[in-house]
Parts: sequence; C-alpha cells; structure tokens
Amino acid sequence: MAHEQLVIVGSGPAGLTAAIYASRAMLKPLVIEGTQPGGQLMITTEVENYPGFPDGIMGPELMNRMRQQADRFGARFRMEVATGCRFQTRPLAIYLGDEEVTADTVILATGATARYLGLPSEERWRGRGVSACATCDGFFFRDKEVAVVGGGDTAAEEALFLTRFASKVTIIHRRNELRASKFMQERLSNDPKVEISWDSVVIDVLGEEPRGVTGVLLKNVKTGEENVLACDGMFLAIGHQPSTLFAKGELELNDAGYIKVFPGSTRTGVEGVFAAGDCQDSIFRQAVSAAGTGCMAAIEAERYLQSVKS
Ligand code: NDP
Repeated sequence: MAHEQLVIVGSGPAGLTAAIYASRAMLKPLVIEGTQPGGQLMITTEVENYPGFPDGIMGPELMNRMRQQADRFGARFRMEVATGCRFQTRPLAIYLGDEEVTADTVILATGATARYLGLPSEERWRGRGVSACATCDGFFFRDKEVAVVGGGDTAAEEALFLTRFASKVTIIHRRNELRASKFMQERLSNDPKVEISWDSVVIDVLGEEPRGVTGVLLKNVKTGEENVLACDGMFLAIGHQPSTLFAKGELELNDAGYIKVFPGSTRTGVEGVFAAGDCQDSIFRQAVSAAGTGCMAAIEAERYLQSVKS
C-alpha cells in the first residue's frame, strides 16, 4: 500500500494547476490522471480565451504544456482511473480498482462532462459543427445559422451569446415551455435573431465533407412530423454531469451531484479534502476558472498539511 502526502484526482486545468502549485511547494503530488488525460479541453479545437495566448492555442496543446510544467517541478502521474475513495476514516484513501493509495490530503479535480444526445451522427461531427460550449466555439460561427438544443438557462444563455456572431439562432426544445428563468425567456423573445422550434427533438445531424455540419433533422414529438433545419452548427445545452460518482457517500454533493465547497474556498465538508474545477462548479465551467480553483486548492492543501504537522 502506497502512502502519499498529496493525491490529486483529475488532470484537466484544475488538477494540473493544482499539481504545478503543489510540486513547486515541494509536496511531490501524485496525479491520478485517468485513462484519457487532459479533461474536456482535449475534445475542443482552438482555445482563444485562455489568457497568455493571443493567437489561440489548441486545447490538447494547452493541456500538454500544463502537464509538462507540473512534471518539471516533480509531480508524478499515474494513468489510471479512481474508482472509489474512503474519506470517513484516516488516512484518506483513493482506490484504483483493487489498489488502495492512502494520502494525508486529497484534491478532487475530476471535472464534468457535457451531456450529448447520443446520436452516432452527433459524434461524427463533434468539433466540426457540433459543440457543447458556445463560449469556446461561438466565434467560429460568424454570420452563420446555428441551432441550440435544450430549454434551460444554459440553452438561453448560449443562444443569446451566439447571437453576437450568428445570423440566426434556433433553439430546439422538446417541450412547448422553456425551463429557463422568466428573465431569460423575455430576453430571448425580444431578440430578433432567436427562433424557437417547440416540441422538437434532433434525430439526426446532417453534414458533408469537408464543410462539416449542414443541418439537423428534427422530429415534432406531438405530430411525428420530420423536417430539416439547415444550419452550420449545433450546440448542446442539455446539462452537464459532474464526474463525482466515485465519491458518492464519502463527501457532501448537491442535488445535481456537484461537490459542495465552502464559499470562497475549495474546502469540502471533509477535513483535508479539497475540490477544484468543474466537479464543484456548475456555473462558470471555464478552463481559466478551473485553473484558478486548482491553484486555490493547492495552497489550501499546503496550509492544511502544515497545520496538521505543527
Ligand atoms: P437544466 O437541467 O436546467 O436544463 C436542461 C435542459 O435540457 C432542459 O430544458 C431539458 O428539457 C433539456 N434536456 C435534457 N435532456 C435532454 C435530451 N436528452 N434531449 C433534449 N432536451 C433535453 O440544465 P442547464 O445546464 O440549463 O442549467 C443547470 C443549472 O444551472 C440550472 O439550475 C440553471 O438555472 C443554472 N444556470 C444558471 C444560469 C444563470 O443564472 N445565468 C446560466 C446557466 C445555468 P426539459 O425542460 O424538458 O427537462
């Protein structure tokens, strides 16, 4: 059984920033990076809003650089998945299948994944017109027509954001009433660029080489009627799923499964366990905000270690 001073679970911007800070503080963190390291940025194309890269940077390249930076200061990596944890007794423990890794302190930075519809065609055109992040990819749809799937606040917010670039934004919602707040609904109805396709679901994403997405095939759930909506992009806004299942029962999660932290801090309800990035943030979900909380978690973990030693 290996014992570590600090285990960081996750290798997106939050986990790797925590690893950079912790390794520079000589904590020699062990990063459990998963089998597909790098987090959500690995499936994006160009990142244009991460400070310090005026010409943009490809998502995988940005993550590679963060990893190298952590590696340079002595972080260690294991390409394995945390399958469970034990936080109710000491020492804290993370399980990698049958293997138990114990630790004095743990930073959870396991992220979240955008929900997709699950259509094979959606998978095929992902990154080439299909996106789950308007903030990341909206810019590429200047003067183009796009669709946004979903009826909640995220869909409303993404649709309104996309009107800055796109010539037309069609919200596709499976019911005849939005879940989004009244305020957002009003903003949508006042925007001449926004249309809503009610009672509709996407049953296929259409595309062609080399252009990418050319439209979506919609089905009216009430009449069964099908029709094609021509568009260059489809944005999914049907919710996110935090990757916290492995910690269920071991620390407090909110109703949506996000890890609860104290306001202005990355401290969880369990002493010595900190949470950073999208696994504890359902609102901002940006690489730079995830990196910011990763930094906070490393500093708080270091202070915690010092307090238990002294
Ligand atoms: P929500 O769960 O609120 O909404 C998800 C939407 O997607 C719903 O309209 C739902 O339809 C639809 N949906 C879910 N699954 C499918 C599917 N398989 N096919 C088609 N449609 C589907 O998620 P959000 O991400 O919008 O919001 C999450 C939380 O964050 C909410 O509490 C929200 O208020 C908050 N938020 C607040 C913001 C703000 O205040 N500025 C901005 C963004 C989010 P249906 O309605 O039929 O269930």
